[in-house]
Amino acid sequence: MQKVGFIGLGNMGKGMAQNLSKNNIQISGFDVDKTVFNNLKDNKIKQEKSLETLVKNNEVLITMLPDGPIVKNVWEQLINHSDQDNILIDCSTIDVETSMYVQKLANSEGIKTLDAPVSGGVMGADSGTLTFMVGGNFDTYSSCKYLFDIMGKNSILCGENGAGQSAKICNNMLLASTMIAVGESFNLAKNLGLNLEKLFEVLSTSSGSCWAINNYCPYKGIGPDSPADKNYDGGFATSLMNKDLSLAISAAKSTDTKVNYALQSQHSYAKLVADGHGNLDFSCIVEKL
Ligand code: NAD
Repeated sequence: MQKVGFIGLGNMGKGMAQNLSKNNIQISGFDVDKTVFNNLKDNKIKQEKSLETLVKNNEVLITMLPDGPIVKNVWEQLINHSDQDNILIDCSTIDVETSMYVQKLANSEGIKTLDAPVSGGVMGADSGTLTFMVGGNFDTYSSCKYLFDIMGKNSILCGENGAGQSAKICNNMLLASTMIAVGESFNLAKNLGLNLEKLFEVLSTSSGSCWAINNYCPYKGIGPDSPADKNYDGGFATSLMNKDLSLAISAAKSTDTKVNYALQSQHSYAKLVADGHGNLDFSCIVEKL
């Protein structure tokens, strides 16, 4: 049986680890928040006491952590305990610079690495339909593809190390603005007296259709199940979207790229965080426009 160590079993990691476990991969998990293990439906996932024992017992190690500083800290420990048989895969969304730094550090010890951030949200993680944007060499990607195929429905090798993170911030920069545009469209429809279910039927099958409407409609009771149906509990935290916009904007500055919509979007998400809504799903922005 294949063995994988999984670090960070939060909103996303929980579903990803459980899908691997369901598909005959033996999973050991590690998380600083021990309560995450109580939320697992799968009792085959073993709780590991330290990163050291996690590395000792597993060849492949996957991290799904909140941000760059945490990934740097965890990877430095993983690298200390790893040898050339280990493969480290980071699925978190972090800045390209930190991603390249930790991967170079690992590669210099002969440890193989991939950056493989994801798209598809908590529903995608739970249902095994994520898209993985992968950075790394072809051989390492090919040897790990079976894991991406279990946790997702697409994996795209975007280029060398760091290319996955570059693709991810471009995707989320677009999603941040799209969600606001969806909110404006629904608000106009409401003020025009339109039935919002009918609007969903039209938009989801017309030229305005997009993932934020079709898969993640931000209005309660409209479209497929989404965080809006749980009062924006769980899902993709507004604070994480704000973080991703910061990563995109800083990458845009360093490459002299104009990103006017992203700048305006970040203003709105940062205000939501400052007003104490950082833990709610980012789609709650439609209620605050
Ligand atoms: P989360 O906060 O729910 O989960 C992160 C987990 O990491 C938590 O359980 C936390 O306890 C654990 N953790 C924190 N520090 C740790 C450490 N030092 N060692 C071990 N465990 C530690 O976050 P999430 O929503 O699951 O997101 C994880 C990553 O995935 C983020 O980088 C996010 O940007 C990205 N992402 C999230 C979504 C989404 O819809 N939630 C979608 C795509 C990508």
